[in-house]
Amino acid sequence: MAVLPRAIADDNPGESDRIRFVIDNVIFVTLHEFAHLIIEDFGVPVLGNIEDAADTLAAVTLIRRDRARPERDFQLIRSLLTAADANRILWQRGLEKDNPAIYFARHPLSIQRAARMVCLAYGSEPELLQPLPDIVGLPSFRANWCEEEFKQAERAWLWVRDSFVRESTGTVTEHQYAYGPTRDPDLRVIRERMMQNKALERVVASVGQTMLLTETITLRTRSCGSPDAYWDGNTRELVLCYQLIQAFYQLSDDQGVKELVKKIRSFHRDNKQILKTIVNPDS
Ligand SMILES: [Zn+2]
Repeated sequence: MAVLPRAIADDNPGESDRIRFVIDNVIFVTLHEFAHLIIEDFGVPVLGNIEDAADTLAAVTLIRRDRARPERDFQLIRSLLTAADANRILWQRGLEKDNPAIYFARHPLSIQRAARMVCLAYGSEPELLQPLPDIVGLPSFRANWCEEEFKQAERAWLWVRDSFVRESTGTVTEHQYAYGPTRDPDLRVIRERMMQNKALERVVASVGQTMLLTETITLRTRSCGSPDAYWDGNTRELVLCYQLIQAFYQLSDDQGVKELVKKIRSFHRDNKQILKTIVNPDS
């Protein structure tokens, strides 16, 4: 079983890409669960599928925070695209095919979740991100609607914020972080790494106070027996299972991930360079 390595050498870019892939997915999952918290706590009216709504709240948060970052390095857009990529690869592995448990589940099919995430990212800045649909295989019949999809989603996001949640005011809410123990030696490695890196603290810091509440909650990692993440309104805990993190790490070994990481790595650089490198990643 592949697990997070005990030490990641800086001279091992393949390994750090894999870790980055895991962290980007953890960022998205955490925000998705924050969205559930907000919808549940405030009784936010939801038209349509609640899982779609949670994905949309999470995606728009990343896009808006990305825009607000002075360095504008596309790091948070990249987190969103990486989450889309994980879903796309899950779909390509064919595990959902002919599976009634998946077809009748509340979550949309992973390829639909991926398409929505990419569409929102692209639709937020279609001129700047013009090569994106081709890179990730979003057909033009969908891409043509993405600008409208993003505007619609952002309108809803702003309504939620203005109605229920305060955006950044400069005051920081201190949340609790609990990295639960596990007896599984592989999962222990994951736990140690997350503690060392203050992984959850960094996720919260990366999105600032957007979508965060004035009330303190606990963000907990623990062993759950299956790859899962959830918001528990009774204990006021946002739980991220080590098994889910491990699943992301295993997924990060996929060749498709490696190729896409190469292409979107350029999101760090300036806009001109982004356009050049995502069109021609080897230049
Ligand atoms: Zn959910």
